[in-house]
Amino acid sequence: MTRFSRLRRLTVAGAAVLLGLTTPGTATAATPSTAELAYYDVTSPTADPADLARRGYDVLEGPLTNGVPILAGAADVQRLRREGLTVRYVGPLYQPVAASFVAAADTYYGGYHTAAGHENHNQAVAAAHPDLAVLRTIGQSWRKTQNQGGHNLQALCITKITTGDCASNTSGTKPKFTLMAQMHARELATGELAYKWIDYLVGNYGTNTAVTQLMNTTELWVIPIANPDGVDIVSSNSTRPVSQRKNAHPNGCSGTGLGVDLNRNSSYHWDVNQGTKCSETYPGASAASEPETQGIQGLLSSIYRDTKPAADFSPATTATTGTFLTLHSYSELNIYPYGWTNSLAPNNTDLKAIATAMGKANKYDVVHGDGGLNYFAPGATDDWIYGTLGVPGYTIEVGPNASSCGGFFPAYSCMSSFWNLNLPAFMTLANAAAKPLPTGK
Ligand SMILES: [Zn+2]
Repeated sequence: MTRFSRLRRLTVAGAAVLLGLTTPGTATAATPSTAELAYYDVTSPTADPADLARRGYDVLEGPLTNGVPILAGAADVQRLRREGLTVRYVGPLYQPVAASFVAAADTYYGGYHTAAGHENHNQAVAAAHPDLAVLRTIGQSWRKTQNQGGHNLQALCITKITTGDCASNTSGTKPKFTLMAQMHARELATGELAYKWIDYLVGNYGTNTAVTQLMNTTELWVIPIANPDGVDIVSSNSTRPVSQRKNAHPNGCSGTGLGVDLNRNSSYHWDVNQGTKCSETYPGASAASEPETQGIQGLLSSIYRDTKPAADFSPATTATTGTFLTLHSYSELNIYPYGWTNSLAPNNTDLKAIATAMGKANKYDVVHGDGGLNYFAPGATDDWIYGTLGVPGYTIEVGPNASSCGGFFPAYSCMSSFWNLNLPAFMTLANAAAKPLPTGK
């Protein structure tokens, strides 16, 4: 919890900067008059992120530099202020989409691809590059399991295909790197980066030396949309995307209270106390209760070799191969295990070395545990793959907190800068797959 206090001490300076940005004359004018969702900071020193989350507020996964960041409507803000808390407007959830903008097929909100758009893309890539890409169905979304529409979960395996590559078993000889995106449906930038990663790989094989060498030696797995039902909900409004984080598993909660947080549903340190049903971090009825979690864990445990003894806090061996990355947004962070505790992972030296190299590439901060986040994240995918298989698992929180490129719904024009910044970090992690734990410490 020391990091909380350290960050809290920055509050005064941070608030001064914020006032400069947002105060147009009077305090009330800084608060939007519409009922639309917006970003706020709860700046009272007594505000506790975990308590606010438990009470149903949408507490965001960002640093506490300026207070506790929340996404809230006018009613929430009134309720907090009536309780005596100080709440400051930070910025709008939505960026304007020009009225003249004509969305291409399968896109929304200025160019983001729908779940169906990603699926069409996956199929097109596999069909156009049979020597470089294999498309696999790895499971189903919740709605699909209920025959209520929904989606098959898709994964692409991209490599210069030779005999035995991209098999659903651990006998393959190439090390594996998996990039997964949009498990939290409203984190729009993440799926788009996966889409660009796929195109970059198949488009540069044979011409770009680094890509060619990587694809000759490594299986690059991509799960572009880990939560397609959630993305359907998000993209159901093409100019004001719906702020759905969880999957679409009914739980009696209205609006975006629907669903289970798939990044709290993994079966490593799953924690029933992460949130009640309607909260944004509801972990589900039990570990790996959700079909999306089962599909993802099923794929990963079938392709990666397990090099970690079963006992928790036992180190994975130097024979470990493979790396894993899950993309979330936002906060500009590279996160390495563990996320469920501040205790150092038994392979902390090696895990941190890779994260540090990623940070050199994308200029984002490097953190673990609760560092930089509001609270721990037990049941997350990155901890699961390291904690159960020994494969180093990382999260990149893409994008900044404020500005037109900030938050969950950045302007689509921001995607090229996000891509340029993060591509070298993806390459760094992919190239580490051959021997990620060289010291075993
Ligand atoms: Zn997320």
